[in-house]
Amino acid sequence: MPRVSKYAVFHQGLSLGEHTYEFALDDVFFENYGGEIKRGDCKATVTVAKTANLLSVHTVIEGKAQVSCDRCLEEFYMPVFFDGTLVVRFSYDREGYDLERVGDTDDEILWLSPDIDAVDLEEYLYESVYLSLPMQKVHPEGECDPDMLARFVRVSSDEEDDEDGQEEFE
Ligand SMILES: [Zn+2]
Repeated sequence: MPRVSKYAVFHQGLSLGEHTYEFALDDVFFENYGGEIKRGDCKATVTVAKTANLLSVHTVIEGKAQVSCDRCLEEFYMPVFFDGTLVVRFSYDREGYDLERVGDTDDEILWLSPDIDAVDLEEYLYESVYLSLPMQKVHPEGECDPDMLARFVRVSSDEEDDEDGQEEFE
């Protein structure tokens, strides 16, 4: 039985039509998830449209997430904006939480066993925040921590010294 987080939508009792949920993706959310993002402050607005045989989950996430700068390693906040749709389909044949990209749309499909009465969005929400960030996470030009940058210069010359030392030792 999969663990159900507080970011779950219990769909079995829902009436057909649209239902809107708001989730706070705060520091506790990011800490508990245990991914690369350790802190954040985002609001996720999730609109679930239920039809007879599927759920269409439209998610908008806005806020900020703390990441480590690729250049100076200092933590800083980047803006987060995500807008996407997850389609949940039900089948006994397609167990688990496999997300599939569908054709040339941005929609993803989550296959759930009809026995599972909740759609746990925790992983989807985290991944959506992460994917909304650029590949290269660096401070805007000129905002890197100069002390940290200077320390890297020192570290790399220390490494050279070590190599020299090893040669002498041999
Ligand atoms: Zn930086």
